[in-house]
Amino acid sequence: MKQPGRREGRRRRPWGPPILGICLALAPNAGPGGAAAAPATPAPVRRGILCGQLIDGRGDRPLKKAAVLVEGERIVKVGGPDILPKGIEVIDLGGATLMPGLIDMHSHPLQSTDSYQVDHLRWSSAYKALKGLKAVQDDLMAGWTTLRIPGDDDVFYAPMDIRKAINEGMFVGPRLCGAGHYISITGGGGDMNFIAPEQHPIADGLVVDGVEEMRKAVRQEVKYGSDWIKLLVTGAFMSTGDNPADVHFSPEELKVAVEEAGRHNMPVMAHAHAAEGIKQAIRAGVRTIEHGTFMDKEAIDLMVQRGVYLVPTMYVGEYYEERGSDSPEMQKNVELSRKYHAEFERRVGEAIKAGVKICVDSDFGGFPPELNAHEFASLVHAGMTPMQAIQAGTRVASEALRWDDRIGTVEAGKLADLVAVPGDPLKDIAELQRVSIVMIGGKVVKRP
Ligand SMILES: [Zn+2]
Repeated sequence: MKQPGRREGRRRRPWGPPILGICLALAPNAGPGGAAAAPATPAPVRRGILCGQLIDGRGDRPLKKAAVLVEGERIVKVGGPDILPKGIEVIDLGGATLMPGLIDMHSHPLQSTDSYQVDHLRWSSAYKALKGLKAVQDDLMAGWTTLRIPGDDDVFYAPMDIRKAINEGMFVGPRLCGAGHYISITGGGGDMNFIAPEQHPIADGLVVDGVEEMRKAVRQEVKYGSDWIKLLVTGAFMSTGDNPADVHFSPEELKVAVEEAGRHNMPVMAHAHAAEGIKQAIRAGVRTIEHGTFMDKEAIDLMVQRGVYLVPTMYVGEYYEERGSDSPEMQKNVELSRKYHAEFERRVGEAIKAGVKICVDSDFGGFPPELNAHEFASLVHAGMTPMQAIQAGTRVASEALRWDDRIGTVEAGKLADLVAVPGDPLKDIAELQRVSIVMIGGKVVKRP
């Protein structure tokens, strides 16, 4: 059956080398928001980059006065300035810090206002797809070269169409993966719980009850192009009419979801706030826990033992704690975030100390794209070193995606997804909000 590598296959594009899985190169000469030029067959361009320091995503320390040699879409050499052959184009970044492209493990490009459930009722999928395309392009310009979508506010798989249009070279955009929908119980975070009973709108999530409906939902997700399965295992903060302290799916439903996903070699991500929901999801075999707000010691230990990744989405709560929201739907989120902020940060700190593998994420797309990188600062505040936080948003995330054979570090053989910031993010982690150069698959899409 289908899985990411096999579905898209290894195929030769008219303008370039074979492309692995759904992790595709951009068309040449495409500008942000603009259609690509007609495919040509240029020889792979060799390009050098010089920087003040290189954070490669693996090492504990940066490499000072470093150089990276890129050929076509890939990195071919990393070292000192002497590795660059004479006569090639060199981008000299001066004192800037060069890093792997950032990976956002929890991005909702289709959710762009504080009232996403109302937006779902008033906006068509086509309109949301256009807004979503703009949002992922803005994310790319802010340094995010890969996004995982954890289900989005959509009915007709618009995130998969955005990915298709980018992968076909129609538009410049980041590498995308993820789920079309979040799968929810009736009355859960993916249902519309503020509508009169005689109305029957299509919910923003896939609403299922029982083992067989779960199996069918997973198969539907696979059929229409999801390469992750997303489960709303507990209630949520931002949706109306449900409670994040409640566990929604039964262990049997979780088990069948993971089993069915596994048949398609597809990993499962579990939205889970309540400790019991986190533990049930881990025991069922999910790969990532989203949020983890009320995790206890047992949940943390289980994550360590089973190698489960935590995607804590800390900043989105902080953003709304600071600013509040005019939207009645967001009031629950604002109140809960304020109430549990300190406790959650302490728990993330414990997870960091225990050695849980943690990834960077943005969650709700209602704020400007440069603020997505605030999550790095939130993780540092919770106890990570700046270097650990950068690795959480690059190498560790690539491992969680199972794409560490192609992205996540600056190493020979990897795709040339690179970003630079003017200063030193090891001294001021907020530098990550000031990305000045972005290269994806060897193409510079932003430069100072
Ligand atoms: Zn989310």
